[in-house]
Amino acid sequence: MASKPSATPPSPAGPDKAAPAGRELSPPQKALLKMGLRRDIDLALHLPLRYEDETRITLLRNAREGDTVQIEATVVKSEITMRPRRQLVVTVEDESGSCELRFFSFYPSHQKTLAVGALLRIRGEIKGGFWGRQMLHPAFRLAGGELPTALTPIYPTVAQLPQPYLRRAVQSGLMRADLDETVPVELLQGIDFLRLSDLRSALSFLHHPTPDVSLAALEDHSHPTWQRLKAEELLAQQLSQLESKRERDRLQAPALAPQRQRGVLSLHEQLLAALPFELTAAQRRVCEEIARDLARGVPMHRLLQGDVGSGKTVVAALAAAICIDAGWQCALMAPTEILAEQHFGKLVGWLEPLLAPLGKQVAWLAGAQKKKERAAALALVENGEAALVVGTHAVIQEQVRFKNLALALIDEQHRFGVAQRLALRGKLDDGSGREPHLLMMSATPIPRTLAMSYYADLDVSTIDELPPGRTPIVTRLVSDSRRDEVVARIADQIAQGRQVYWVCPLIEESEALDLSNATATHADLSDALPGVMVGLLHSRMPTAEKKAVMELFTQGQMGVLVSTTVIEVGVDVPNASLMVIEHAERFGLSQLHQLRGRVGRGAAASACVLLYATNDNGRLGETARDRLRAMAETADGFEIARRDLEIRGPGEFLGARQSGAPLLRFADLATDTVLLDWAREAAPQMLDRHPEKAQLHISRWLGGKSEYLKA
Ligand code: ADP
Ligand code: MG
Repeated sequence: MASKPSATPPSPAGPDKAAPAGRELSPPQKALLKMGLRRDIDLALHLPLRYEDETRITLLRNAREGDTVQIEATVVKSEITMRPRRQLVVTVEDESGSCELRFFSFYPSHQKTLAVGALLRIRGEIKGGFWGRQMLHPAFRLAGGELPTALTPIYPTVAQLPQPYLRRAVQSGLMRADLDETVPVELLQGIDFLRLSDLRSALSFLHHPTPDVSLAALEDHSHPTWQRLKAEELLAQQLSQLESKRERDRLQAPALAPQRQRGVLSLHEQLLAALPFELTAAQRRVCEEIARDLARGVPMHRLLQGDVGSGKTVVAALAAAICIDAGWQCALMAPTEILAEQHFGKLVGWLEPLLAPLGKQVAWLAGAQKKKERAAALALVENGEAALVVGTHAVIQEQVRFKNLALALIDEQHRFGVAQRLALRGKLDDGSGREPHLLMMSATPIPRTLAMSYYADLDVSTIDELPPGRTPIVTRLVSDSRRDEVVARIADQIAQGRQVYWVCPLIEESEALDLSNATATHADLSDALPGVMVGLLHSRMPTAEKKAVMELFTQGQMGVLVSTTVIEVGVDVPNASLMVIEHAERFGLSQLHQLRGRVGRGAAASACVLLYATNDNGRLGETARDRLRAMAETADGFEIARRDLEIRGPGEFLGARQSGAPLLRFADLATDTVLLDWAREAAPQMLDRHPEKAQLHISRWLGGKSEYLKA
């Protein structure tokens, strides 16, 4: 439709100015703020989704079917017809031909503009049709005025924010924003295409490209101006993370060096000797990396990543041993009670025999704990008798006072948020200003590019080898219609003394549906497997009940465990040899990999069955099938993570770490590796040699959001 000037002039809040208090904001102003378009620079960086070419008038004779064109033509006929439904049909002509415009909804004002004799500028897609050329609901206005010289930007927007309003707001933001060059010339030497344009000209161009540009290069972001923006964005991210890393390097932490005493084995050595297995080479390597960090008087912030079953827990226990040996306390936090309890059991088994002679023990803290128990645990933590504290979020609650916490271990780190890590960092409040060391564990391997960008402020240790003697897990895709065969297979495994997991998907919209689905599966399996104990575990069960079910399964009495909760299956039952995942197409690849990793932990041959539901034609969607095939083809968690990143973007991996912080808007980690490498090299140089420009660059790109990245 014709773009009328809107009543209120665009008035974005301006540089760092909040909206004036007391004055009602107009709906478009509110919408601007809601979209995060607050500062001039935010507007300037709000880039078009696509463009329309209004720079040319096309003669009707030259307009082919399917072309979107702008024509200038005179109305020769305008009438409302009722067949096949009420519509306004307007015939227009230029010197070369004619065209029919059809409107199914229209106002009297439209009819007025479209009166016979009016010369109009009309824009729309040409349809062929039996009766000649047509346009459905084209945009139109009275002809006249100069043709624009640049393409017209179409911005991402919302209903309350009309395109013309947004366009003017962006334009004024672009005019006012400080776009002075922040990237020092010398840092641009290496990459030719980055020198092709500076930020100001890149932005002016992208908002108003000249009509001769290749639209394809703009659309796939390969145009040099896009490269420039992506490079700047990645640089901001690197700078911000490097800065927080350097800030942290100025902090202090207890130096946890092994206390060498003649003839006395350290706790670490004792634990190694007591383990029923040898560490893998990868485990030894990461243990050394961690020990080196702990010995420094600077807080460690290290991510320990390793595929499911690679043996991260024992690495954590060995780190704890170093800490305890040096006379300090250690805490381990897991996202769910079941997982925490599993750790507790393991660590008690490994460490308590070694701690007892020292008069120390392992304490347990969880939300669902009896008051008395909890009070006793809190006392042990406070007086230092608890050398190790294991638990859920309860570990970081305010009432928990450590005597001298020096090391915090966080399992499944992506399930914890910034606030929780910050709380842990504040738990060594002995007045010395020191912070504890942090070791974060993750079983979802983070693809390399992601680690280099979002996790650039962390040091990363990777266990890239599984303990020996594991038989590979065979993965099969099975249609839901062949459930009976799967049940027969379960019976077979049980007959061999094995155990089976059956996971039902989490349907986010409806927990109730989840439950009924799982309950039905549970009932079916109980019927189909007489004499076998089939258990049910779901997220809304009381903790005590969950525990009881888990115990029966862990101890081997329960043959089949049906579960809705994905993470709580994060348990270690080596006797389990079959994992059935129902509606596998609804899970992410990394999630599936996690689940699959619950089996194959012992020596027995293990299998994973991915049950998929088919659509009405009995077929699984093509992408869904490709994704599931990837699962069957590779057992390498890194490869799976890489594919997952490709398919679903970084959100999945970042979890709580990133909540509230901006994801990369322009750069794409799957394709922009050259730029990422450049940014990684440039960031330290810029921070060293041009600290002010670095600050300006960070605030320009990240605004107030960089804080989120720092915890
Ligand atoms: P994850 O990395 O998934 O947390 P766990 O720490 O639970 O893995 O280890 C998986 C299983 O492998 C556990 O039963 C653990 O005791 C065992 N394990 C760990 N390291 C080794 C090793 N070097 N050799 C043999 N078994 C090991
Ligand atoms: Mg684990």
